[in-house]
Amino acid sequence: MKKILFTDLDGTLFDLADYSYDAALPALEALKKENIPIIFCTAKTFVENEYYRKKLGIDDPFIVDNGGAIFIPRNYFSFTFECKERSNYCVIELGASYGELRAALKAIREEMGFKITGFGDMTAEEVAKDANLSVEEAERAKNKDYNESFVFDEPEEKEALLFEKIREKGFEITHGGRYYNIHGKDADKGKAVRILTALFEQEYGEGEVKTIGVGDSRNDIPMLKAVEQPALVKNKKGTWLDLSLTNLYKARGEGPEGWVEVVEKFIINK
Ligand SMILES: [Mg+2]
Repeated sequence: MKKILFTDLDGTLFDLADYSYDAALPALEALKKENIPIIFCTAKTFVENEYYRKKLGIDDPFIVDNGGAIFIPRNYFSFTFECKERSNYCVIELGASYGELRAALKAIREEMGFKITGFGDMTAEEVAKDANLSVEEAERAKNKDYNESFVFDEPEEKEALLFEKIREKGFEITHGGRYYNIHGKDADKGKAVRILTALFEQEYGEGEVKTIGVGDSRNDIPMLKAVEQPALVKNKKGTWLDLSLTNLYKARGEGPEGWVEVVEKFIINK
């Protein structure tokens, strides 16, 4: 049985406060030794994913911008399939392009007079300050392909109208913490996991693949629903996301510590 690990990054493999993942390093090494694919499935951008993959020495496919696209290293699978080529990757795009999303936001801003400020309207220094990142990190976070994050500086009662306008233009919106995100209707972590799982099944045989997914928050729900073994780690409040799914495993540890627990329980059987 080929096991495949789908993992969220922020708050799951990485500590939410300082992005540290030291606690997870031995388990990561064990996974690599056993050739278990480690698939990042995250809201992070392509550039951020590349940065962390390089740092951690991971060469497996990854899902960017909350399911906006799947990047698969060229020749990763032994067969060919339809995709768009970009540097060393074969890309399956699910989401709308950054240009389309920016244009929609601009049109809504003009039509409605809303105070909307996207990452694309800010300098890296401004994003760094606003999101509490270093300038370097902000540059990577700003470099979006299938999503735009923005601040909606209007009274709460106008939010419903914003949602309506975005859907009218054929896009979707999510709200997590400080930022709103506009993205294509088909950009979905769950859809991306299913497509990638089908490719792994084509490679290893149907019924020969077992998928495990780990996350910590609401944007992970579609991913957790799309895997065979879903798992949650604890968040900073020391509790789990309110979610009931058959088979859902709730790790005792927070962030990377919980992540290690999941890997040891379901994959490396320590
Ligand atoms: Mg997270």
